[in-house]
Formats: sequence, structure tokens, C-alpha cells
Amino acid sequence: MIPYGRQQIEQSDIDAVVASLKSDWLTSGPRVDEFEKQFAEFVGARHAVAVNSGTAALHLATLVAELGPGDRLITSPITFLASANCAAYVGATPDFADIDRATRNLCPQALEAAWQPDTKAVVAVDFAGQPCDIQGIAAVAKRRGAIVIQDACHGVGSAVLKNGHPVRSGGHEWADITTFSFHPVKTMTTGEGGMLVTDNDELAKKAYALRSHGITRESSEFAGMEHLDAAFEPGPWYYEMHQLGFNYRITDLQCALGISQLSRLPQFIKRRQEIVAAYNDAFHDLEFIHPPAVSSHVEPGMISWHLYSVEVDFDLLGISRTEFMTQMREMGVGTQVHYIPIYLQPYYRKKYGYLPGKCPQAEDYYSRALSLPLYAGMTDSDVQTVIQAVRDLCQRAPS
Ligand SMILES: *Cc1c(COP(=O)(O)O)cnc(C)c1O
Repeated sequence: MIPYGRQQIEQSDIDAVVASLKSDWLTSGPRVDEFEKQFAEFVGARHAVAVNSGTAALHLATLVAELGPGDRLITSPITFLASANCAAYVGATPDFADIDRATRNLCPQALEAAWQPDTKAVVAVDFAGQPCDIQGIAAVAKRRGAIVIQDACHGVGSAVLKNGHPVRSGGHEWADITTFSFHPVKTMTTGEGGMLVTDNDELAKKAYALRSHGITRESSEFAGMEHLDAAFEPGPWYYEMHQLGFNYRITDLQCALGISQLSRLPQFIKRRQEIVAAYNDAFHDLEFIHPPAVSSHVEPGMISWHLYSVEVDFDLLGISRTEFMTQMREMGVGTQVHYIPIYLQPYYRKKYGYLPGKCPQAEDYYSRALSLPLYAGMTDSDVQTVIQAVRDLCQRAPS
């Protein structure tokens, strides 16, 4: 069975993790610092804060942005739940603007139309790994004083063009904060894990503290006053808690894997691009299948593809999506659907009163969406198996 996604683990990854197990550090050791340093360099950011999931990175982003009750955060409905849940975690209102039909990414015009006086943040998602129109989104948001969080959990290593030069997600000023996930289904993995990157020193400092209970050990930051406060005694054990933080720490074991995976990320991206090119080539003449469109502000060679999500004309094909998926599975090919528009989830409907029809483009896309297998470890023969299975199904369609 060819799954829709899977991790790529080699002996060098295993050796790196075993070496860290034999070291003095299991958590919060030198490999965390090293992973952060290398990752920040790779994307071109000043600061990288490693955490134990992409969701934790998004939660820290809404915390350091100081969002709260009375604030609205707008994101795309076609994304994983965490892109919106991060607003709800801090008591802000998650809201949604429609997607651009071609790229499936948040549409800047729709964002502008959905803007409300209480909108304080945007989570701009790089769906399937293709960067969203972050420049257009930032233009809408920053003019209104909102913070831009780029959810690049799909697109680690993807780049957009800035004055004709590629800049990676995390490495440009259009986003204030960018988040990544290292879940095994993503393009590189640490088991579970995530990263928050920013060029802003203040935001980074807050994120580091909130990752570990809001604690500071920097004496220059201590608020305790000797003459006022009996607890204050600036000994070597002393620390202070300034904000309500969490345990979002990642382990040294995970960062050993992360460093090892990061060294092969360019290979992973290249292999995924080859597979996407083979699929695009094989499907361009099939009237039932519509491959993803590439936006004009990115170059195909600079996309770190996470998903290969096509639109299938199930009506024309004469079979339901469930039947399509079942028959694909019988031919040894796993598929998946990304995503159910988030506002249609029972929690969102009940809590925020969202109704079907809110984002028509997203709903139309969802009704046709299907993700085919895409991962760096796919062999050429796996790719041919997928292509043949899709072709077989299309040939069986009533003409
Ligand atoms: C995977 C993912 C997340 C969450 O990452 P985890 O590491 O699983 O917590 C957030 N946003 C998007 C778009 C994702 O795909």
C-alpha cells in the first residue's frame, strides 16, 4: 500500500538520535540550540524558537502577539484546524476569508472584504507548500495595524520572489512570525515538533520564555525588589515567572533528528518536485483531474510541495469520492482529503454561529479535493502505480 504521505528516515538519522541518547542531555540541551541556529540560517530569520509541535508554535504566536478576547484573527478555511484554533486558545475569535480558486490559498481581496474593526491578526497559510500571496496579504493587514503570522507548516523551505530574488518563508518582513511543523507527515520531521521564527527580538524573547512556563533567569529582567519583596534573593537558584507560560519544550533527541533531517531537506524538496512534475505531466490531458495551479509570485522550482492535492470532477466521472478512494485503495494507493473547511466543524458552527455558504470557493474546492501520495521516499515505480491507478479509474468512466 502506498500511503498519501510518510516520513523519510535513514541510518544517519538513527545514528544522530542514538548519539543524543548516549549524551548528557535528553531535553533542552545543545542540540536544541544547534537546531534553532541552523534552522534560522536556512530560512533567513534572526530567531528560531523550537517547540514540541506546530500547534504549540501557533499558540505561542497568538500569545506573543497579545491577542485576546475582543480580537479577531482571520485565516483560510482550507487548512489544518490548528491555524484557527490558535485564536480560540487565547480567547480571540477565529474567522475565515475565502480562498483564491486557482491556488487554494487565502485571497487578499477576500481578506479585505472580510475585515472587521476588531481584526487584529491574520494567519496566512501556505497550502500544500505553495506560498500564499504573503505580500498581498501583508499589504491588507499591515495598513490596518494587524499582525501577520505565516503558517508555513506545509511549506518548509518554500520561497517567494522579492525584487526578483527568492526569499524563504520565515526570511522576509511580510510576516511578523512564521511557524513550521515537523510532524512525520510533513516534509521534514522530528517525530512531533515545530518552530516559531521571527526577526523581532521582543517577540522572540517572549516566545522563549512562554515555551517554558514564562520563566526568566536573566537577572536584568528580575522584577523582585530587595527592599519590597522578601522572596527576592538573587542567588544562583533564583528565577521569576512573569507570564503564564507552558511546557512546549522540544527534546534534544528530537532536535538531533531535526538537525539530521534539515541537512537532507533540499533533497526532500527536490524529490517532491520531481514527483509533482511527473504527476502534472501525466494528468494534464485528463478532463476529470485538475492539478494544482502555481501562482505568478512563486516559481515552480521554489515550492516545497507537501501535498499533491488535485480536484476531481466526480460528477463527470460518475462515481463518488468515497468510491474513488475505495477503488484507489484496491489498487494499492492511499488518498486523503485536505481539508474540510474549518468553519463547518461542529465546534465552530456552535461556538461562532458559522454557516455553510460562508466561503463558497472553499466549499466548492472541498467538494472536489483529493490528495494523492507525495513523499520523498516514493520510488519511480510507486509514482507510476499512482498514475496508472488514476488513469484506470478515469478510463472506466461512462463516456
Ligand atoms: C500540521 C499542521 C499544523 C500543526 O502542526 P502539528 O505539528 O501537527 O501540531 C498547523 N498548521 C498546518 C497548516 C498544518 O498542516
